[in-house]
Amino acid sequence: MSLRLFNSLTKAKDAFAPIDPKNVRMYVCGPTVYDFAHIGNARPVIVFDVLFRLLRHVYGDAHVTYARNITDVDDKINARAAERGISIRELTEETARIYNEDVAALNCIPPSITPRATEHIAEMVAMIQSLISSGNAYPAEGHVLFDVASKPDYGKLSRRSLDEMVAGARVEVAPYKKSAMDFVLWKPSSPELPGWDSPWGRGRPGWHIECSAMAGKYLGQTFDIHGGGIDLVFPHHENEIAQSECAHHGAPIANLWMHNGFLQVEGEKMSKSTGNFFTIRDLLADWPGEVLRFNMLRTHYRQPIDFTLAGLTESWKQLERWYGVTEPLADPAPDAAFFAALEGDLNTPAAIASLYQADELALAGGLGFLGFSNVQLKIAAKTKVDEAAIAQAIAARKQARVEKNFAESDRIRDQLLAQGIVLKDGPNGTTWEVKR
Ligand code: AMP
Ligand code: ZN
Repeated sequence: MSLRLFNSLTKAKDAFAPIDPKNVRMYVCGPTVYDFAHIGNARPVIVFDVLFRLLRHVYGDAHVTYARNITDVDDKINARAAERGISIRELTEETARIYNEDVAALNCIPPSITPRATEHIAEMVAMIQSLISSGNAYPAEGHVLFDVASKPDYGKLSRRSLDEMVAGARVEVAPYKKSAMDFVLWKPSSPELPGWDSPWGRGRPGWHIECSAMAGKYLGQTFDIHGGGIDLVFPHHENEIAQSECAHHGAPIANLWMHNGFLQVEGEKMSKSTGNFFTIRDLLADWPGEVLRFNMLRTHYRQPIDFTLAGLTESWKQLERWYGVTEPLADPAPDAAFFAALEGDLNTPAAIASLYQADELALAGGLGFLGFSNVQLKIAAKTKVDEAAIAQAIAARKQARVEKNFAESDRIRDQLLAQGIVLKDGPNGTTWEVKR
């Protein structure tokens, strides 16, 4: 297999050669857990899940380590917990649980490691200390800042000069900063906010240092692939590079940087104010996760995606057509054309296109390889055809209850439950939903 992946650092499709084929290592920036994940957030999860599957196929399941962090300390989290009147822990636990359920419904394999920021404060403090010792960071008024001027090649990922960055970024100007571009590694916390004791007083870490510290701990000073959405290139990934390289005597943090393109909805930027904002959870109420997954993989990961309901409908129909011919299987190997497409910078639309020509066995293998199982569509299909029957059953159950024949009404409820239909009795009668 000759895998080539587009490297944001070199701006070329580099041949992928792992540092250690016995332990191929990938880090992807995960969610900040303060609210439901939206369908844009689902894109890196699905894209890097396909890459994870491909790497496992090439190097063996036991020889790939995939880390995706959970950011559970952040100003947005603090603000949301206060707004909802719940504790920060309650908010982050609830949101992380929902996130895991959502991405499981998209048939994504759990990463090998999902480190949480709040469980790695000691590693962050140690990294900050080393950056101060090496002259790359300085404490000021309870903060610690990274001194951007101390890293002459700062900006090499986004390929911007310092002047362009200052002009383009919404950098916070603060009296304690030597330069406007210097970014926060540590900041003070007031007593009501989450904080940890540190050499610079009680405080909390900045976002960028979280990823550098956790990636370093689990994947080593230099690992193979670092991924995330294109919006993270600057400043987040630029800052991860600066911190990790300075703390590790110049060793690169990752050999290959991969960024997925952005997702729009019906031709527009997703926004709550225009009503075209979709959480994964909202969509899962109407669309099987596999349909969302397939729809995402029909576009190459570096291209922008226009997410439309028409596209979802088309995706559902295509999966149904294929499932009419075959069942996805993990075992049979997809054919050479399929792998050739994935080897060429993870070209999922070309891999999918090859399935139209594939024989039944290669189709089954290709669908299985891409993470399709047909379980969800079967459930959805069942509920679709049974809608009238459910209404009838609800009416029969109501009649049974009027007649105080509770054995019969329970039997009807249990029978529906066995088909995955949950009844809910409310003041306005009985409604039903599909058990997930
Ligand atoms: P966040 O929680 O905002 O840090 O985002 C988590 C991940 O989702 C990051 O890798 C982002 O780059 C990615 N992401 C956020 N919005 C979109 C979008 N509209 N399209 C594609 N990826 C996105
Ligand atoms: Zn990160």
